[in-house]
Formats: sequence, structure tokens, C-alpha cells
Amino acid sequence: MKFDAVIIGAGAAGLMCAIEAGKRSRRVLVIERNSVVGEKIRISGGGRCNFTNRNADHSNYISANPHFCKSAMARFTTNDFISLVEKHGIPFHEKKLGQLFCDGRSQQIIEMLLKECFDAGVEIKTGCETKELNKDDLFSISTTQGTFQSHSLAIATGGLSIPQMGATNFGYRIAKQFGLRVGPLRPGLVPVQVQTEDFAPFRELSGVSLDALVSCKGVSFRENILFTHRGLSGPAILQISSFWHEGESISIDLLPDVNTHNLFRDPGNIAKEINVLLNQFLPKRFVETWLRLRGGSHPVNRHSSGELDDLAKSLHGWTITPTGSEGFGKAEVTVGGVDTDELSSKTMESKNIPGLFFIGEVVDVTGWLGGYNFQWAWASGWVAGQFI
Ligand SMILES: Cc1cc2nc3c(=O)[nH]c(=O)nc-3n(C[C@H](O)[C@H](O)[C@H](O)COP(=O)(O)OP(=O)(O)OC[C@H]3O[C@@H](n4cnc5c(N)ncnc54)[C@H](O)[C@@H]3O)c2cc1C
Repeated sequence: MKFDAVIIGAGAAGLMCAIEAGKRSRRVLVIERNSVVGEKIRISGGGRCNFTNRNADHSNYISANPHFCKSAMARFTTNDFISLVEKHGIPFHEKKLGQLFCDGRSQQIIEMLLKECFDAGVEIKTGCETKELNKDDLFSISTTQGTFQSHSLAIATGGLSIPQMGATNFGYRIAKQFGLRVGPLRPGLVPVQVQTEDFAPFRELSGVSLDALVSCKGVSFRENILFTHRGLSGPAILQISSFWHEGESISIDLLPDVNTHNLFRDPGNIAKEINVLLNQFLPKRFVETWLRLRGGSHPVNRHSSGELDDLAKSLHGWTITPTGSEGFGKAEVTVGGVDTDELSSKTMESKNIPGLFFIGEVVDVTGWLGGYNFQWAWASGWVAGQFI
């Protein structure tokens, strides 16, 4: 029951860490409370796992210290993970914006990690819940399957999102138990609710999506937004949700590629109805609702120049104040986590508790949508695996 290293959590970060430590001939045990490993890998990317992003660098991450992730990301890169996927003959493709997905099922990535664990002599216990953790000379980990001791301990228990898949606050509790600071936690990459009266007509557009530029506090994302029964979702909204805080507004440019001033002044357009012009760029149902709330559609030349300017302004800067988010139950990630000042960026080890490591999503490093969160999990797990 004595190991060189115990890793709690058999997700992306924990398994990668175990593989690397095992390759160094360390005796490694991974403890997982679910009955199977890598549940979030399995459901990720719509079942095809967006396992990394070709463009990943530190600028794609949110953290109190945006430089913290640089070292790990430089030592285990996107190309390193691609090499591993290629070594296992897993076919993949780039969907868009550097996002790499399996051609087949995410399960292939899980099987790849399990094969690497097996080859590296890693022991894995599933259905094993950790009850208590203490440190004397060694770490003592008391679980539903007995007590284990280890020289090093890596906490790879992930974030709070999707509790029904095994997410717990265990990692944050352990950090606090050992005196490490944990920053505020909130759901990220999450749909937002907009339960205001002026937005009510748009909730009826549930299922309609359109390409837009969405901004909050100087950060912008250009991708689709999707109307839902309760508010907004879609990739651009998920991205911006990680930057948004309760009470703040987001701004949506509905026509980022269109010069509306010229559109409304073009001599060929002035006799046309506004809806005819807007339907070229926006979904018909959306245009109908948008114009209905502004007195209906009329020919351009029935409007004063000031009215046309106001319409253009509203189309380029639709301001929405979400009333909340869909919460951890629907979020892809947790923003915030174990304070990076508490950890060495070179090893992921606690600066004050020798032998205690934190890796993956439990750390205050949160990626954008698009494979960045897995790349952080692989990189931080790989780095810790060299030292535990
Ligand atoms: C629906 C969804 C889709 C996603 N799609 C993508 C995607 O395509 N690309 C991308 O980059 N990211 C994606 N993510 C985010 C990504 O899954 C996570 O950022 C990543 O899995 C974090 O890895 P991790 O190893 O830190 O944590 P996790 O993968 O969450 O692993 C933590 C493990 O610890 C276990 N655990 C927790 N508490 C205990 C305990 N007390 N004892 C024992 N075990 C415990 C959990 O059961 C879990 O298996 C998605 C997330 C969700 C929810």
C-alpha cells in the first residue's frame, strides 16, 4: 500500500502525470472515484474530443497570473500531444480555428492513455473515493478501498462543472487544508440566461443562430451565437461567459463585416425595405423580431438620416445584460482555482508543502473553448509527472 506517487483523479491531467511518472520507474497509483476513468474526455467535443489546439499559447488562458502556464506549455506542446495521438494511429482532423478532433470517438483518447499507463506500469483504482488526506513523513490517503501512503501526491480532481460526472470540490478542500489559497470559483464556457422583459421576444427565437462579434470588457470573440429558451449560447457566448461577471453587460455586433452606413445610403438600396437588406446577412426570423420591436420594416427612404444611424448603431452594438449563467451544471469549465502563486510553474509543486502537486483544471488556469483546456491538462500533468 506504499507508492512513490499517488495521483487523485483519473482525468486528462491525472493520467498524463501518471504516464510520465511511471516512465521514470516511479511506483504510481491513480485513484478515481468514478467506476471508469476519463469521463470528461469521453463526453468532450460532442463525443469526438477536441483534444488540443494548434494555436495554443498562454494568451488563450485566463488566470490571475497569465504567465504561469507558459513554462508547462513550452515543455509539453500541442505538437507533443499530436505525436502521441499519431503514435497510436488515431485519425483526427482540424475542424476550425486550429481545433483538433478525433475522426472517431473520444474513447480512442481514453484507450490511448490507458495503454500508455499500462506500458508505464501505472496502477489505477476506480470506484475509489478518497475520504481523508494527511501528511507526516509520507502522505496518507484514506479511501473506500483502504489507506495508501506515498512520497508525492498530485491532486488532479478537476473543476466543479457537471457534478453528475463525478466533479467534486475535493481538490479545493485539500488545497485549503494544506494552507494554499484558492481564488473565487465561477462557471466558465457556459450559456447565459437573459430573463429581462426586453429580451423576451428573442427567447422565442430558440434554435436560431447567427455569426456575431461578442465583446465584454475589451475582449471579443467572433463566432456563432445561439438563441435559447432562457437566453444565449453558442461558441461566441460560451467564450465571453468566462470573462463575464454578474451585473456586467455584453455587446454584440450583429453585422461585423457590413458597413451599414454605406448599405443604407447606397442609391440602389434606398427604395428597398430594411428587412430585405438585413435578410442578406441575418436570419429572417431574427430580422423580423428585431424590426418589429422598432416599429416594423419600411423602405430606407422613409427614414431620416438620424433614424438610420440609430438603427446601424443598435445593430453593431446590441447591449445585453445577462441575468445569470446556467451554472456549473451546464458549464464546461471552472474559472479560478488554486492560486498559482502557491505553486512552482516549473514543477506544479506547492511552494510550501514539498511533494504536493496540483495539476489540470483545479489550478487557476482556464482555457478558451477549442481544445485549450485539454492542452493545459496534458501540459501541467506532463510537467508534474517529471517530478512526482
Ligand atoms: C461537456 C464538456 C465538454 C468539454 N469539451 C472539451 C473539449 O472538447 N476540449 C477541451 O479542451 N476541453 C473540454 N472540456 C473541458 C475539459 O474536459 C476539462 O478542462 C478537463 O477534463 C480537465 O481535466 P482534469 O484532468 O483537470 O479534470 P477532469 O477531467 O475533470 O478529471 C478529474 C477526475 O477526478 C475525479 N475526482 C474528483 N474528485 C475525486 C475524489 N475525491 N477522489 C477520486 N477522484 C476524484 C473525477 O471523477 C474526474 O475523473 C469539456 C468539459 C465539459 C464539461
